[in-house]
Amino acid sequence: MISALLPNYARADLAFERGEGAWLWTVDGRRFLDFGSGIATASLGHGHPHLVKAIAEQAAKVMHTSNLYRIPQAERLAARLVENTFADSVFFCNSGAEANEGMIKMMRRAMSDAGKPERFRFICFEGAFHGRTLATLAATGNPHYMEGFGPVVEGFDHVPFNNMNAVRAAIGPATCGIIVEPVQGEGGVRPADMQFLRDLRAVCDEYGIILGMDEVQTGMGRTGKLFAHEWAGITPDVMSSAKGIGGGFPLGAVLAKEQFAKALVPGTHGTTYGGNPLACAAGNAVLDVILAPGFLEGVQRKGNKLKTELETIAREFPTVFVDARGLGLLLGMKAAVPVAQIQAACVAEGLMAITAGENVLRLAPPLVVTDSEIDQAAGMLRAAAAKVAAAVANKAAAQ
Ligand SMILES: *Cc1c(COP(=O)(O)O)cnc(C)c1O
Repeated sequence: MISALLPNYARADLAFERGEGAWLWTVDGRRFLDFGSGIATASLGHGHPHLVKAIAEQAAKVMHTSNLYRIPQAERLAARLVENTFADSVFFCNSGAEANEGMIKMMRRAMSDAGKPERFRFICFEGAFHGRTLATLAATGNPHYMEGFGPVVEGFDHVPFNNMNAVRAAIGPATCGIIVEPVQGEGGVRPADMQFLRDLRAVCDEYGIILGMDEVQTGMGRTGKLFAHEWAGITPDVMSSAKGIGGGFPLGAVLAKEQFAKALVPGTHGTTYGGNPLACAAGNAVLDVILAPGFLEGVQRKGNKLKTELETIAREFPTVFVDARGLGLLLGMKAAVPVAQIQAACVAEGLMAITAGENVLRLAPPLVVTDSEIDQAAGMLRAAAAKVAAAVANKAAAQ
């Protein structure tokens, strides 16, 4: 008989009761160092006092009123995001997929308003992940995810990542824009070449098409800048954000330049919950921490420290790891054995890591992780790698 909770996930048999910073405790009292952050989402770690207080206080006042009325918390959060990014205006929703849906609709509508409704197609990238709704599945383009879900939403063309010739060849009279992740997170923690991002900006300007950036995973400080495209010194036209933006509370956003944002006039797009007082109180509390002087520099420094550790471990265990990659605190290690085996060995050492495409072990600790916790994680990862390496050697000897 089917379980009451729909079994659409292959869940690990771990249930957590509470957390503090980068640590989580299971209901049966075991302690784990959380280097997955609930898929790069619990950016302030667990139980962050400032975030907890903001949520508790807002919950006691008013949680939800709907977008029929003004929402001061959302106005403030939008103003702060505008002040700190390329964007002129922000739409709030509840998830990454919804942010991308909003971004896709905004891009098409802006093109239509500009008198070019025939320009409705998007160039997306192999290895991308944009979400699980029907349009974002089409943008993702992974045939395995689309199978059995009926006609694929029309208008998404896929080309190899980091390949400018392929992008240029794909641009046609029906192209509306390009949608790109600055680091492909789910696809295997694959960073875009900075020059590639600059060339995408240039090609969009050249053809009058729209540059959409999916920063659902890379944004809100994850790579050591508020948004990862800043590393390339360019600005997108439209951008999606989610995951870390609410620090674990569901919140998503579409940030856009006025020229594109103005396409979504009343009646064109909306959501019931999106940007409600509680979610935006969480978002404001997260921003308080991330925008504090020195915080993002700390993420950069800790990211470099962790990456150096991962590179060293990859070199020490060449039968287990192929390489280390990533940006800031969004890091990956391509595995030379099935990555699930390494992940299980990490859990046995008390370290929670997640996986990504291309057989990659993904490490995305809370942005508040300490140097000492990075050292502890490296120790656990090294112990796990040693066990996997021994198993690999035993298997080779037995053959
Ligand atoms: C996780 C993710 C999404 C989807 O976000 P959901 O909140 O799961 O809908 C979209 N794009 C990127 C880059 C992501 O990492």
